[in-house]
Amino acid sequence: MKAARYYDNHDIRIEDIPEQKLEPGTVRIDVAWCGICGTDLHEYLDGPIFCPPKGHPHPISGEESPVTLGHEFSGVISEVGEGVDDLKVGDHVVVEPYIVGDDVYTGPESKDYHLSKDMNFIGLAGRGGGLSENIVVRRRWVHKIDSKLPLDEAALIEPLSVAYHAVERSGAKEGQTALVGGAGPIGLLTATVLHALGLKVYISELSPLRRQKALDAGVVDEAFNPAEVDVVEEVRKRTDGKGADVAFECTSVQVVFDTLMDAVRPTGVIVVVSIWGRKAQFDMHKLVMKELDVRGTIGYVNTHPKTIALVESGKVDLKPFITKKIALEHLVDEGFDTLINHNETAVKILVSPSGKGLDEK
Ligand SMILES: [Zn+2]
Repeated sequence: MKAARYYDNHDIRIEDIPEQKLEPGTVRIDVAWCGICGTDLHEYLDGPIFCPPKGHPHPISGEESPVTLGHEFSGVISEVGEGVDDLKVGDHVVVEPYIVGDDVYTGPESKDYHLSKDMNFIGLAGRGGGLSENIVVRRRWVHKIDSKLPLDEAALIEPLSVAYHAVERSGAKEGQTALVGGAGPIGLLTATVLHALGLKVYISELSPLRRQKALDAGVVDEAFNPAEVDVVEEVRKRTDGKGADVAFECTSVQVVFDTLMDAVRPTGVIVVVSIWGRKAQFDMHKLVMKELDVRGTIGYVNTHPKTIALVESGKVDLKPFITKKIALEHLVDEGFDTLINHNETAVKILVSPSGKGLDEK
């Protein structure tokens, strides 16, 4: 089968590789759509980061580069392994793409399996990936979805789950006010969850195209241009001078974090969703004097069922965020290149590994 494999920095190859073996407790999924993630771009430009380099196998998967890429995908079950009795051929599914140790409790009560030692992701550190025609995944990480849900939109459930977990970390409640810093894919999806949960949502973003996307998608009440307006002042004006209840840092840019520190009310919560490649400046005095909570968030933990329910409820529309669909052969020249050089116009680029669905509008 065809697969996109990560060899090294700036070295991704589309190759013919053998299919994975169907083991007991696993299912085979014919991949319908797989999104390209910022993490994939980082591996390409600055990596390997999550991908295990050649000669350094990942401690859990035991695999090293080349590895198949792709962790944001949807598909249809084509084969069911021994012992799996609650999924069948033809079921539409999405994958929660974790690689965690066999000794880690991953049941419904777990709140921390995503923080376990050597945690990594399917599609980055082994066990196949969504950028291939099919993939074999352990039952635990497969989530069934309603077959009425379009499979292209379903490919966005994984990044939406990241946003959902971030919103849960904030403790945001219906009727509150949220400020999102940055309208890239994760900022937009965070706004989407907040809006669906009934918060007032403001977003701050320099790019006019991205501000327009947030407005067109209907997931924000207003989009501020921080180059033109004082975002802190604008938020205060709309909250009786108090400030936002919750804020989300989705840029890894210092000035955005500083703005959020000022724009939240006393006892407000700031959730840092972006990955910071360096140390941040931190106004400790402000944190103390406003009794602020600054919280991290990474991935998701037992979040997929709630995220899927939200999408199936019809309260979120993921269609506006699909900006392009491409064939696997064009992963680098059309997919990565667009995201690296024209990232203002692209939100999510979806790849069809089999080529199916590309001629549909
Ligand atoms: Zn991702």
